[in-house]
Amino acid sequence: MSNILGIILFGEVDQSLGKFLQQNLLKCFDIFQKVVIFDKTEEILNKAYDKIRKQYLSTPFLNLVKKRAEKEKYFKAIGVTNVDLYVPSLNFVFGVAKNRACMISIHRLHPEFWGNLPDQALFLERTLKESIHELGHTLGLSHCNNNCIMRFSNSIIDTDNKPKEFCSNCGKQLLKFKNSD
Ligand SMILES: [Zn+2]
Ligand SMILES: [Zn+2]
Repeated sequence: MSNILGIILFGEVDQSLGKFLQQNLLKCFDIFQKVVIFDKTEEILNKAYDKIRKQYLSTPFLNLVKKRAEKEKYFKAIGVTNVDLYVPSLNFVFGVAKNRACMISIHRLHPEFWGNLPDQALFLERTLKESIHELGHTLGLSHCNNNCIMRFSNSIIDTDNKPKEFCSNCGKQLLKFKNSD
């Protein structure tokens, strides 16, 4: 069985961002043999929109990513959108994960969102970090208190402060996952 990671873009996300993730996620995870971008860009799910919060519920997006993953026989899949996502218990989420599917929102990863000057390198680094983190969850990792990509972040400062790498504990768990699968 080949372990394919599928990237699914929603709405107006640059193809170049998809390509950036395709190249970098392949380097970050030994477990993926191939990373592909799903050939259809999905539409933003209007049914997920909450008019009062002016945000989108993440669950329907996650469910669609899961459905695509099953149909395309992706080992894991990650959805990427530029709309602001939430779960009912939190003001917003950078990303969510469940089983083989995960989803990230790049909405709050732009420095401009926080009133700072545009910085493409920083934006890309944040996008990569959130992607690695959510994919870590799909590979069975929980949140980790070490200096580690699996640290929970609920602010952009948390995201910027954590490294792009897994700590040695999480790295070992990933290896176990690889060997048992
Ligand atoms: Zn997490
Ligand atoms: Zn860790």
